[in-house]
Amino acid sequence: MKTNLFIDGTWRPAADGRTFTVEDPATEQLLARVADGTIEDALAAVAAADRALPAWSARSPRERGEILRRAFELMIERRDAIARLIVQENGKAWRDAVGEVAYSAEFFRWYAEEAARALGEVSTAPSGNNRILVQLQPVGVSLLVTPWNFPAAMATRKIGPALAAGCTVVLKPASATPLTAVAIAEVLADAGVPAGVVNVVPATRSSAVISAMLRDSRVRKLSFTGSTEVGRLLLAQAAERVVSCSMELGGNAPFIVLNDADVDAAVQGAMIAKMRNGGQACTAANRFYVQRGIAPAFVTKLVAAMAALKMGNGLDEEVGVGPLVNAEARDKVQELVEDAVARGARVRLGGKTPEGTGFFYPPTVLDGVPCEARVLSEEIFGPVAPIVEFDDENDAVRLANDTEYGLVSYLYTKDLALGLRLAERLDAGMVGLNRGLVSDPAAPFGGMKQSGIGREGGHDGLLEFMEKKYVAVEW
Ligand code: NAD
Repeated sequence: MKTNLFIDGTWRPAADGRTFTVEDPATEQLLARVADGTIEDALAAVAAADRALPAWSARSPRERGEILRRAFELMIERRDAIARLIVQENGKAWRDAVGEVAYSAEFFRWYAEEAARALGEVSTAPSGNNRILVQLQPVGVSLLVTPWNFPAAMATRKIGPALAAGCTVVLKPASATPLTAVAIAEVLADAGVPAGVVNVVPATRSSAVISAMLRDSRVRKLSFTGSTEVGRLLLAQAAERVVSCSMELGGNAPFIVLNDADVDAAVQGAMIAKMRNGGQACTAANRFYVQRGIAPAFVTKLVAAMAALKMGNGLDEEVGVGPLVNAEARDKVQELVEDAVARGARVRLGGKTPEGTGFFYPPTVLDGVPCEARVLSEEIFGPVAPIVEFDDENDAVRLANDTEYGLVSYLYTKDLALGLRLAERLDAGMVGLNRGLVSDPAAPFGGMKQSGIGREGGHDGLLEFMEKKYVAVEW
């Protein structure tokens, strides 16, 4: 297991020799000591990325694509080893970790293909006097900052398009999960990515390290995934040098079930939308709005499906729900449940932190949740499904949109025309219509309102790392 910084194609300790510890949330045991990057290290990484930029951006798109394709293949070959790291540092269930590795690798494959599709435009000016030539060029050295909840996918979703576009990068992974990021750096190096093109700098002094990089005039792009709170801070800092920003921030996804929905399909979708990664996903269904006629059947079946999940260490392949990432995350979930119960919600399943080792919280279903409960307005980031009943679908849309977030909404109905009409009215960058999973490397992933700016995945993901250059020309 690699635990050093990866700068300019070499593995090295932090400039001041400091390390930080990574714990397994299931066992609370020390997993590794990782080099704790300093400002000096971060600026060395920026310098390496800057030196590597001219040659990398001059490589043909096909060559860049072929290296990414090789990275995809290597990641699939190393699937189990990377999944194991994810389970150990993040806590997710084995099947979620294996799913994450496959999903992450797909970003390398998709952008291996997209590398050759950075198409420009040529048109005639309306006056007829000249031609309008538009070219796409790499934006330059890019700073990538990622969260702990999808330690592989959030990194490859940025590195894939950045490299395809011809950019070079410095990745600052979350301190809870640096090992997966470092393993991905190893995949890329083995795939033939030249020294300096990808640099990885784990750092617990994240604020100081990131601010220093954002102040450096060689950094031209910030691609951030994390909480809205930190996103706002970084947007303000990026404003000082007008750095181009792509922001994938928090969510508060509503999951709406109409009376005519297929109840089994809705429960199956709810289990994915709620329980992938134990509820620790920006796309996690945070609030269930269920029409009164279908509510008794939906709640009964959801409780049964949640109760059937085995809780434990994700390395056990039978486990469906692992621990939360740390004690603070678990205590916040417990606090939100207690707040809802104090305001009148009923506990239909779970609802209590278990005794023993590991940061576990059981699958929990609450119904009769009053509108003012915090669990409906804050990101839960845990295995808790709060249910609210409604009568009129217009009320469901109003409740769904009543949040500063706008990442994803889920909607179940057999009436596809009605579903599409309601989807148009939902303030969300993505809608799962009779689907509990929206993530797809080929689709534009991202949010409206305070859930973010820009899109990752699809062709849009490539454009986030490119500048348009327009040449007015006469010929
Ligand atoms: P976070 O905002 O605490 O941290 C994200 C990254 O920012 C980490 O690398 C962290 O070290 C760094 N960071 C933290 N404080 C910083 C500061 N003051 N200055 C500079 N950098 C700082 O988020 P998290 O807890 O790691 O992840 C969970 C959050 O991420 C949730 O809100 C979730 O919704 C969001 N998320 C969004 C998406 C999306 O695509 N929209 C995907 C996954 C997670």
